[in-house]
Amino acid sequence: MDMLNDPALTAFRDEVRAFLTAHLPDHIREAATRATSVFIDPAVSLPWQHILHERGWAAPDWPAEYGGPGWSEIQRYIFAAECAHAGAPNLAPMGLKMVAPVIMHYGSAEQRAHYLPRILSGADYWCQGFSEPGAGSDLAALQLRAVPDGPDYILNGSKIWTTHAHFANRMFALVRTSNDGKPQAGISFLLLDMGLPGITVEPIRTLAGDHEFNQVFFDDVRVPQANRLGGENEGWSVAKHLLTFERGGKYAPGLIGRLGRLRARGNLDPMLRAQLDREAVTLTALQALELKAMRGVGGGAALYASALKILGTETAQRIDTMACEIAGHAGWADADGQTPAELAVAVPRYLNDRAATIYAGSNEIQRDLIARAMLG
Ligand SMILES: Cc1cc2nc3c(=O)[nH]c(=O)nc-3n(C[C@H](O)[C@H](O)[C@H](O)COP(=O)(O)OP(=O)(O)OC[C@H]3O[C@@H](n4cnc5c(N)ncnc54)[C@H](O)[C@@H]3O)c2cc1C
Repeated sequence: MDMLNDPALTAFRDEVRAFLTAHLPDHIREAATRATSVFIDPAVSLPWQHILHERGWAAPDWPAEYGGPGWSEIQRYIFAAECAHAGAPNLAPMGLKMVAPVIMHYGSAEQRAHYLPRILSGADYWCQGFSEPGAGSDLAALQLRAVPDGPDYILNGSKIWTTHAHFANRMFALVRTSNDGKPQAGISFLLLDMGLPGITVEPIRTLAGDHEFNQVFFDDVRVPQANRLGGENEGWSVAKHLLTFERGGKYAPGLIGRLGRLRARGNLDPMLRAQLDREAVTLTALQALELKAMRGVGGGAALYASALKILGTETAQRIDTMACEIAGHAGWADADGQTPAELAVAVPRYLNDRAATIYAGSNEIQRDLIARAMLG
């Protein structure tokens, strides 16, 4: 990373690099490079999380009091960039990056003490139960009903597009606890165990043929009210807080790594090379914006999150298209008969990445949020 002109940061980068060289196993790096999705299977991501956890680096964004390394924003960015450059797999975001910050913010002392160490170590694997068949962009229309019964709620309904529900032992879910007033005012946020009687997980295949997400059915599922995060009917605020973490983040480091591997290839069509060069400029701008957002420059975390989501996902899709073109030009294999991983997965990754402009709230909705905030 060429933004370093501080010897302490250079030393930090070298420390991270040395750690990655020594501890990132080849089979994990190889599996990550061949992954067709940003959601890496836990068989690959969890062993890497265990290695990072042992070093105290599994959750770079967490405050030190909960087990984070206590790094500055720029150190966290350097760490992400070095991991991407080394080909390390993404860790599952649902626990570490999505539900953990809201447990820190809204959870009781007992909830924080119970869940956070299990998220950090990878003992719990989470999925996100927000969308329903009739509630996606219009999330507040959700209908999964939670009716109080003694100390519990009884849940009936279903969640859909639930990424990695077939791996997860925990779900954080938005449920309807009231139909009075505005739809947003009758939603609660629950933390639940996926092994509870009455929960069924049905696979959904994607366009790319992957089994990545599911529909999850709830049939008289009993969940303790003590598993609610925040007050009853106050789940919408928790969800909005969480969505900032889901949408924001660091797209540039991984994309810079991918683009670099494509640009390093010889014999590229000059038009294609010019397009790749243009994306390199776009990524420099995206990186600057991500750093600005991390430092909180200009405020408006939710708006930054929306803008970064649009820029990151749309740039990724353009890079996917170019990877397919290069794979076509190169006839897949190099002169030595080997097919580089980047090209071998170009088409399935292209197909899988069509979803990137839809999940975490579609890009049309993000543009709408920005327009409403900026233009009124
Ligand atoms: C790969 C993948 C993984 C996902 N994982 C999860 C998960 O783990 N948990 C979870 O809860 N959800 C998950 N989702 C669901 C995701 O959040 C929704 O797909 C998304 O919010 C869009 O909702 P929808 O699919 O119901 O589309 P709809 O809301 O029906 O929208 C259809 C189209 O209409 C457009 N549209 C809708 N309203 C407007 C408007 N007001 N203005 C302009 N355009 C509009 C949308 O942009 C979209 O193009 C996942 C989705 C995908 C694709």
